[in-house]
Amino acid sequence: MIVTTCTVDSISPLTPHVQRVRLVPEQPVHFLPGQYLQLCLTDEDKRPFSVASVPGQAHLELHIGASASDEYSSQALNHLQQQQQSDQPVRIEAGLGHAHLRTERDHPIVLLAGGTGFSYIYSIAQALQQQGNNRPVFLYWGVRQQASLYLLPELQQWASSQSKFRFIPVVQEADDDWQGRTGLVHEAVLEDFVSLEAYDIYIAGPFPMVGVARDAFLKQGAHREQMFADAFAYI
Ligand SMILES: Cc1cc2nc3c(=O)[nH]c(=O)nc-3n(C[C@H](O)[C@H](O)[C@H](O)COP(=O)(O)OP(=O)(O)OC[C@H]3O[C@@H](n4cnc5c(N)ncnc54)[C@H](O)[C@@H]3O)c2cc1C
Repeated sequence: MIVTTCTVDSISPLTPHVQRVRLVPEQPVHFLPGQYLQLCLTDEDKRPFSVASVPGQAHLELHIGASASDEYSSQALNHLQQQQQSDQPVRIEAGLGHAHLRTERDHPIVLLAGGTGFSYIYSIAQALQQQGNNRPVFLYWGVRQQASLYLLPELQQWASSQSKFRFIPVVQEADDDWQGRTGLVHEAVLEDFVSLEAYDIYIAGPFPMVGVARDAFLKQGAHREQMFADAFAYI
């Protein structure tokens, strides 16, 4: 674990409900794709957020859900905004979690994101691109509304330019003009794979989603030791 202070470089909306935060750490921060950091609001109050960027970049990127009803995120965001406005740094603990990308394997990969769980999945997907990955990758991103798919064009572009990368957005409460998949995102995975036995599966999203996905995937042949999610420690 690395403890350091960071400048809050920028806070900008990805959607009305999700903010992109860029932090510039005072010292280089070593972490693995898919790890999270804790934002220290006080010495006792620390909130985990997945790092959306990949190691080696000058900044650390976070995607923070920002609805007023979600105190977990809105208090963290308020802290970041206050520190930025008063030119004060924030304190983080980085390089946390065990659900990081495993690079030493050759299994095909399922990446499963629910809502802002996409931050974790995005870091892993970018790292696979950088490494010239040759493994088939199936990225599922489930959201309630279509407008929450804030990086849709980029992911569609990846999918159209790489034969081994598939992107499957899944909208729960779809508008009439939505042409893609609908329903719960883990159910789309269950529909698409007769067996999940061969796959490494990385999961992030709301805890209830991670729980039902884990149980359903196990029933569909997935191996527990090939499923990775830091939420497993909480549920
Ligand atoms: C280690 C760690 C890292 C975290 N990192 C972040 C972060 O980077 N950013 C952040 O904002 N928060 C983070 N959190 C907090 C928490 O995980 C998020 O608040 C949560 O993922 C937010 O989900 P959402 O509201 O965007 O998804 P929602 O909008 O609630 O759901 C998105 C999709 O998930 C599926 N889903 C939701 N509920 C269910 C269900 N009950 N059953 C089946 N499927 C369901 C559906 O497909 C739905 O469309 C983190 C927490 C931990 C422990």
